[in-house]
Amino acid sequence: MAGSSQDRSLREELTCAICCELFSEPVMLDCMHHFCKGCIQEYWDSCAHVPSCPQCRRKFPSRAFRTHYLLAGLVEKVRRCGSEEHQQKMQKHLEDALQARQKELENLLQRKRVVQEDICSLTKVSGELNFKIQSEFARLHQILEEEERAVLAELGEKEERSLAQLHRHVGQLEEGMEVLQRGIEHIKLTLSKMEDVSLLEVESLDIRPLVHVEMQPALDLQHYRDSHSGPLQYIFWRQMLRSICPAPAPLTFDPESAHPNLVFSRDLTAVTERNQAQPVPVSPRRFRQCVNVLGSQAFDSGRHYWEVWVGSKTKWDLGVAAETVDRAAKVKLCPENGYWTLRLRNRTEYWATATPWVRLTPRQPPRKVGVFLDCQEGTVTFFDAGNMSHLFTFHQVSAERYCPFFSTCFSDGRANVEPMRLCHLAL
Ligand SMILES: [Zn+2]
Ligand SMILES: [Zn+2]
Repeated sequence: MAGSSQDRSLREELTCAICCELFSEPVMLDCMHHFCKGCIQEYWDSCAHVPSCPQCRRKFPSRAFRTHYLLAGLVEKVRRCGSEEHQQKMQKHLEDALQARQKELENLLQRKRVVQEDICSLTKVSGELNFKIQSEFARLHQILEEEERAVLAELGEKEERSLAQLHRHVGQLEEGMEVLQRGIEHIKLTLSKMEDVSLLEVESLDIRPLVHVEMQPALDLQHYRDSHSGPLQYIFWRQMLRSICPAPAPLTFDPESAHPNLVFSRDLTAVTERNQAQPVPVSPRRFRQCVNVLGSQAFDSGRHYWEVWVGSKTKWDLGVAAETVDRAAKVKLCPENGYWTLRLRNRTEYWATATPWVRLTPRQPPRKVGVFLDCQEGTVTFFDAGNMSHLFTFHQVSAERYCPFFSTCFSDGRANVEPMRLCHLAL
């Protein structure tokens, strides 16, 4: 390593030219050469002549040298660095550093693997979504094309019927004209013979009556045109909506399942909590602890979507419940107990009641919540039905039959008295 070659040259610099060891009590002569104090004294002792430098041979008038403290300190440091203990410490230090880097490398490698897996998964899921979106659009195109064909076919039939009628009329008129023509010819012929025949004969001549061709109602072209005009795109879009699956289901509440405090609108699409129990028949289907109610329809297959108006209520729960949920007990709303719900608390806190709960932060408070149940996929998805932005999806949803689930929560005086409503698509 670069460090060790530097060490070596430093060590050489700090080596006494006499004993070839690291300086011991280094001293400097006037010629600026260094030696161990002991070495130079011994050297000078051994030669009888004037003192001189063993390296450059310069002669000195006396045995004079200066102790070099800075050099002594440096030598001490180099000597310590060369010690076994220091070596071991350094080795340990380097081994630790190596290990730490190897571990970090492994860590980065692992993270890279995860990210690469994410890349693969993302590509795969995007492909699946792409396919799904394309097939949904293909279905819409198909519906639209079928609608177009049906509308054009109807127009064609109408045209054909009217044309046939008109052609028939033309035929009748032509027939009449022919008969009349023949009559005219006959009368003309008779007229030309008037002088030759007796009046008696003329009277016996066959003069056929006038032809009568039935009047047909005039073609109302304006009506024909008008009946196929108007806001055509909207008309076709409305017709198309009938074929869309799933379209918002026109659900109603099931009052028999409702907690006695709940009261309903006559059409069973609005519910509110009255702060006191109403006289209701006893039913094993009734929620007895919490102010809950189910939808009147249960689902065991297919895909279903419905929308719930929550307006500016300050708290509510809604979503899907297994038909078998315990309605007599006060039960925590969570998937383990057969509930897949969204909830609002304290006006602004939105939660998905997964385990553990998930706090949601919608861009704006949803006033209408869309619930999408896919029995095949086993998912329940919530949307802000105002702009159809996604709020939350439960996976691994499983039950024999699913019921739309609602809880108005307590009215708290007037704070939360606003009814919860089931939205029906008004077309
Ligand atoms: Zn020496
Ligand atoms: Zn010298």
